Amino acid sequence: MTYLGPIGTERGGRGLRVDMHCHISMLEYTDPRHPRIVMVSREEFLSDLDAAGFEIAVVLSDERTPPEAVSRFISATPRLVGFGYVNPVRHGASEEVIRQGEGLGLHGLKLYPTLDGYRADDPRAFKVYEAASELGMPVMFHQAGMPESYALLRYTDPEQVDVVAACFPDLKIILAHLGYPRVEESLYLARKHRNIWLDISWVYGDIRHPSYIYFLWKDLLKALNLGVLDHILFGTDYPGISQAEYLDMFMSINRYAASPELEIPLDGLEKILGENARPLLPNILLREKI
Ligand SMILES: [Zn+2]
Repeated sequence: MTYLGPIGTERGGRGLRVDMHCHISMLEYTDPRHPRIVMVSREEFLSDLDAAGFEIAVVLSDERTPPEAVSRFISATPRLVGFGYVNPVRHGASEEVIRQGEGLGLHGLKLYPTLDGYRADDPRAFKVYEAASELGMPVMFHQAGMPESYALLRYTDPEQVDVVAACFPDLKIILAHLGYPRVEESLYLARKHRNIWLDISWVYGDIRHPSYIYFLWKDLLKALNLGVLDHILFGTDYPGISQAEYLDMFMSINRYAASPELEIPLDGLEKILGENARPLLPNILLREKI
């Protein structure tokens, strides 16, 4: 399948589809008191992507999946893009970024300030941002809440990423989960800094409650109003939720719009599904047949 050229010619009239936020295994928190681990094989992963019509997926390292495991999972499958992980305030973290980028073939980094207990604007982390910026590796911050009691909200303040984005204007920064629960401030960061994007992967609590789509519609309306809809990225938090189910929900996002003027424009939704992610993907994916 060719990813360049007129949009939609090989995809039945639609644009590129990218899931920017997937895991191989994850803790699923629909019931925060009884989280459960969900895991997938590569075959299941690719079959779910195909079933939903997605061309590309970003596979993230996390506390259960080290960068080496992501590297093995994506190997020889260009449509899968791997993101590594470091604790950037640890000694040797910037060398580790280079190893993961050049040695393991990982395209970006996922950072977890709230789980690892550091501020994103800690000067000790700056060498990591510098290395990622030089290598062209996008950095995704889990700058959002987590239900674990030890994952402190003080390390999710978007104000800390404001500093990073200002100091490293060439570093491509993604805020996962719309920065929930600080969604408004996070959206505002994208208005301030053109090097900030936000993904809509699993933002609120119960994904199957009708309120979920209502909240997401309101937040996308805020993004529209702020002029940052083109920096919103589709993501799921797969395998916690399937691409097909999240896509279904997303395509009926305007269900609660009381007037057509308050709808999210269809072309804006279409771009969120993939085109907005282009600057964050490896060039080779957008150029070659895979
Ligand atoms: Zn996630």
